[in-house]
Amino acid sequence: MDSLEKGLQHVKGVGPVRLRDLQRLGLHTVRDLLYHVPRAYHDRRQLKKIAELGFLEEEAFLARVKAKKTVKTGRKGKAVSLLTVSDGSGTADLVFFQSPYVLKSYSLGEKLLIYGKAELFSGRITVKNAEIERWTENKFCPVLPVYPSSEGLSQNFWRKITANVLQDKNWDFTDYLPDFIRQKYHLPGFYEALKDIHFPGSLLVKERARKRLAFDELFLFQLGILSTKQVYAQKKRSWNYLFNDTLTSELKNSLPFSLTKAQQRVIREIKADLQRNYPMNRLLQGDVGSGKTITAAFALAFALESGLQAALMAPTEVLAEQHFKNLSRLFHPLGIKTVLLTGNLTKKQKEQSLELIKSGRVQLVIGTHALIQDKVLFKNLGLAVIDEQHRFGVLQRAALADKGLNPDILIMTATPIPRTLSLTAYGDLEVSILDELPPGRQEIVTKSLENAYRTKVYDFIRRKVKEGRQVYFVCPLIEESEKLSLQAAIDLAAELQEEVFSDFSVGLLHGRMKSKEKEAVMQQFKAGSLQVLVSTTVIEVGIDVPNATVMVIENSERFGLSQLHQLRGRVGRGKEQSYCFLLHEKDSQRLKVMTETCDGFKIAENDLQLRGPGEFLGVKQHGFWQFRIANLALDEKILQAARSEALALLAEAPHLKGYDELKKAADNVICCLGERRN
Ligand code: ADP
Ligand code: MG
Repeated sequence: MDSLEKGLQHVKGVGPVRLRDLQRLGLHTVRDLLYHVPRAYHDRRQLKKIAELGFLEEEAFLARVKAKKTVKTGRKGKAVSLLTVSDGSGTADLVFFQSPYVLKSYSLGEKLLIYGKAELFSGRITVKNAEIERWTENKFCPVLPVYPSSEGLSQNFWRKITANVLQDKNWDFTDYLPDFIRQKYHLPGFYEALKDIHFPGSLLVKERARKRLAFDELFLFQLGILSTKQVYAQKKRSWNYLFNDTLTSELKNSLPFSLTKAQQRVIREIKADLQRNYPMNRLLQGDVGSGKTITAAFALAFALESGLQAALMAPTEVLAEQHFKNLSRLFHPLGIKTVLLTGNLTKKQKEQSLELIKSGRVQLVIGTHALIQDKVLFKNLGLAVIDEQHRFGVLQRAALADKGLNPDILIMTATPIPRTLSLTAYGDLEVSILDELPPGRQEIVTKSLENAYRTKVYDFIRRKVKEGRQVYFVCPLIEESEKLSLQAAIDLAAELQEEVFSDFSVGLLHGRMKSKEKEAVMQQFKAGSLQVLVSTTVIEVGIDVPNATVMVIENSERFGLSQLHQLRGRVGRGKEQSYCFLLHEKDSQRLKVMTETCDGFKIAENDLQLRGPGEFLGVKQHGFWQFRIANLALDEKILQAARSEALALLAEAPHLKGYDELKKAADNVICCLGERRN
């Protein structure tokens, strides 16, 4: 039997030219082709009479060709082909705009199966660009697959080559899913599912097939990442944490507030990880402002008080600098030396820092991805925190882990992630959730406003600044051009300074500034000498200035919901009531949820539904999220089942011993995802 991993040149009907077309679409193996599933189906099980056509949806009917001609239409006189058909109950005109060959292909009197949406045109029943085929009763396929459109490859081509594979029993369709799982969830067999998703007898059958294949994908994926987790658990940690409370209790005492219950719980969860004899791999999720930084500081402190080095990696320079300031303020009085490592240091500074890290004379290292460069060597890195904001992939995580002998890893996400996503993107990690905001926080009053209300917003801001508050304006990233985004921010800052708020100080912050300049601006804003800060999205993550209580987001329709939530989270950090204005061109329905809730998890769910996982995580380019069948926004139940079965199976058969087929398939999924991710 032939493996589905074989190249598509082995499929009947695929010549060298078509092979290249398919490869260009990313389809290389027979399995790729089988997983290239229809995007829709033409349901032709009910054959209507012409007189019964409903004009609302696509319908199928049988009729004979009565006349054919080419006619000119419109002012430009474009030639269209017209087939007039009738079935005794009525007559219909089939109009084709770009298919001159239809007139040649069908002769008068021939019986056709027609599928399309009828409309009335000058009083005649008309179907534009109908799908037609010669009626042959014994070859009738009631539900016809419609493949994602791809230039040059016709629907018939896809149908034909897919059918060729499915009809050839030489391909190895062995089902690798254990019988007991299939029975438990009433899943059809592998071959049956493939057949039914491409050529279903009914839509119900098709959905069952889709479920089975989605289950496969998620199950294999979970097996893959959960075995990675089993591999972690085999690694032995080569040091012990002392838990002597020398640093942690001082740290606790130095805080101007007491920890929330959720923070205490998460710190206990981290501690329990560190008490085991294999490395921690934990994800810390929490809504904006839930106090992840201080929670992470306790993790760092566990390492530091045990005489180990600790590191924190942040996705942007601005954020790395802020973490550096906050953490050195916390740890410096406790006798811990801290260094900042970003791409912007001079050569000399850098060499010095690297030397300090290598010799162990600094214990706490904070930085951007500069931290994971080869040149950075630690003396004894014990624990690393990654403030991820989704931007670091699994591979970068691994690179940081390589800096020590399997250091303990704590990952923080800047925004909440829906459960389905965290179980896949971070399925190899333990998860802690900070589900409580520090006391005294108020809901941020959020208004979605058309630009026409701008002057009203300005008036409001004027009042607030007079009361001593500070304000952010955020301009969106314009995808086509970074230069344009920059200019928008520069123009807005100039306009606000010169015309609108000439009696206040307006500052500007954007990604193209030197880090010294950025730092200076942030410093001025923090100190209150700037009242208004205009920024590109560089302030998106983490910036913390409690006296800033108004956030204005320009062109808010261009942002994802989670990003808006994250931006909004820059205000509402102090005792004063805070406000967020979402300015936009026309009424944007999508923004409504922002005005209704401040719950980051709810917003994240909404965002996932609207944008899909790739864009949600901002990793579209990696292709990591393109499960071919499963839909993470919809298939939560299937995912849960797949995960719990994977967990159970791995507990019973570590490393899938005795399940060779399954192991091969799981490795294959992980390997494909890895490749697509690079
Ligand atoms: P995020 O989870 O968004 O990263 P931060 O760690 O930046 O949040 O914390 C937000 C703000 O809340 C900071 O000013 C921090 O000092 C403060 N904070 C953290 N924990 C508490 C707490 N338990 N009580 C009061 N304020 C807190
Ligand atoms: Mg943060």
